[in-house]
Amino acid sequence: MAAEALVSRGARPHLFDAMPSLGRKFLMAGKSGLNLTHSEDYAAFVTRFGEANAALRPALDGLTPDDIRRWAEGLDIETFTGSSGRIFPTDFKAAPLLRHWLKRLRANGLTTHVRHRWQGWTDDGALKFETREGEVTFKPDATVLALGGASWPQLGSDAAWTDWLAARGVEIAPFQPANCGFDVNWTPFISERFPGAPVKSVTLSFEGESHRGEFVVTTKGVEGSGIYHLSAALRDAIARDGQATLMLDLTPDRSLDRLRGNLSRPRDKSSFANFLRKVTGLEGIKAALLRECLPKETFDNMETLAQGIKALPLTLTAPRPIEEAISSAGGISFEAIDETFMLRNLPGVFCAGEMLDWEAPTGGYLLTACFATGKVAGEATAKWLEGQ
Ligand SMILES: Cc1cc2nc3c(=O)[nH]c(=O)nc-3n(C[C@H](O)[C@H](O)[C@H](O)COP(=O)(O)OP(=O)(O)OC[C@H]3O[C@@H](n4cnc5c(N)ncnc54)[C@H](O)[C@@H]3O)c2cc1C
Repeated sequence: MAAEALVSRGARPHLFDAMPSLGRKFLMAGKSGLNLTHSEDYAAFVTRFGEANAALRPALDGLTPDDIRRWAEGLDIETFTGSSGRIFPTDFKAAPLLRHWLKRLRANGLTTHVRHRWQGWTDDGALKFETREGEVTFKPDATVLALGGASWPQLGSDAAWTDWLAARGVEIAPFQPANCGFDVNWTPFISERFPGAPVKSVTLSFEGESHRGEFVVTTKGVEGSGIYHLSAALRDAIARDGQATLMLDLTPDRSLDRLRGNLSRPRDKSSFANFLRKVTGLEGIKAALLRECLPKETFDNMETLAQGIKALPLTLTAPRPIEEAISSAGGISFEAIDETFMLRNLPGVFCAGEMLDWEAPTGGYLLTACFATGKVAGEATAKWLEGQ
């Protein structure tokens, strides 16, 4: 997006990437449908970036979710709004969009170089790249860094750049997993019998925030959109307290009173599991979670069981490693850049995307903020070049 802003102002940028092809994480996002942005009310949309809301606001105002839809349409990619308000390309694919975009950028003056791993600067200020032919240098008039965060490093964004920027006095908040799964000390009953089991339509609550969603049980813990939604608060609580207890309502459409009534029905000779299924609809992984998370005595008392179904405590012990997270928190501090995203310590070097210190839930907020900051950085770079 920075390159687009530059070419549209007549600049002739060169784009370098360490990987053998461009946009690998973007293409990976396409595997889950490429959620480009979100259709919720814009006043709510701009509050999804936590402590960075204010710092990102001007960039978001300059490239709103509506602008992103129009931009995609300009690349012959139709979009639609899913039932959750998330906006996707109609074909749920990233590859056609990336292909059309690169074609247009190249036609307008972008030169791309793959297998160029940036390694910092030479003593005379040139960019230093590791390539298959050995070290190559390039001295641009200005630089936009859009090197990504620290999740899924196999797709290229390995955060190795933090050393070179820190050495130049750039303040960088440590990277942490965001939109991540968590470890749970499952008994073998769960970890061996239910890996991959989806827990659908539950309400997940933590520290006063509740969210209706779903998640998946893994051999080591839990992951999935319902968990990601609360993951920043859960991660911070684990860092503070050593663990965090998530509350699950396994029957969000059935009130506690109704459950009490259901569970007070007389039991016939069938097993308890059958009784539970018949009167509450709970079976499979949901029934297994009750066994896993509630003390045995709970099942002797229908009142405490009803309460347990509505507020099942699930203790999370650690976030999954950043390598597995959808995105990362941390990165270049907003203190280190000016309002045009230029590094205060390095005039002529601009930054954009996930390498900046912000985080957001899934829902298209991540790509939107990457696009929006890229646009600001590209426009500011073009302006800066005019002044040179
Ligand atoms: C599985 C998955 C699904 C996702 N789905 C969505 C989604 O549907 N919607 C959404 O909004 N977000 C989604 N995201 C998040 C989104 O993809 C990222 O936030 C976004 O791609 C970050 O963009 P970026 O340009 O800042 O960094 P990246 O996309 O990570 O790009 C950074 C680039 O810099 C290159 N690079 C890094 N270091 C060097 C170096 N030293 N030298 C040269 N090149 C270097 C990398 O090779 C890479 O190509 C998903 C992420 C994952 C992992």
